[in-house]
Amino acid sequence: MPRRSLIAEEVLEIMRRPARHCWTLDELHDDLTRQGLAPDPSSVFRAVCGLERSGTVVRVPLGDGRAHYEVASEHHDHLVCTTCGRMEPLACSIVADLASRVRAWSGFLVSGHQLVLSGTCGICADDAHGTSQRGRRRSTAQAGKNGR
Ligand SMILES: [Zn+2]
Ligand SMILES: [Zn+2]
Repeated sequence: MPRRSLIAEEVLEIMRRPARHCWTLDELHDDLTRQGLAPDPSSVFRAVCGLERSGTVVRVPLGDGRAHYEVASEHHDHLVCTTCGRMEPLACSIVADLASRVRAWSGFLVSGHQLVLSGTCGICADDAHGTSQRGRRRSTAQAGKNGR
């Protein structure tokens, strides 16, 4: 296996952080720049392509015309917030009986799926319902500072 470039190592480290579920190339570039690496966008692209070729990273089809990437893991589906763009993994067991219902409905034998559900995430739903008396929930980055 060829050695990964420094940028590829950094990209993988960023993508393994739990702060975000999927990354676009722009978001990876921003994070790398914040770390003081300031790579040119084409080297970020090459690094991600290399990780994708080796199967370490996969592209997530979210249907918004942009390429989103995540670290390869067990199959799961996705929830996308149309307000803040936040993406969350969705355990596939939730849609497990869909295949048998499709079979019963049309005779179609489902062999795979990529499901993306769009809507409003918990944080945006709270904001919309004005739960400010409990204190507005802050972004995870700010909330992290309050601990210990
Ligand atoms: Zn949201
Ligand atoms: Zn995912």
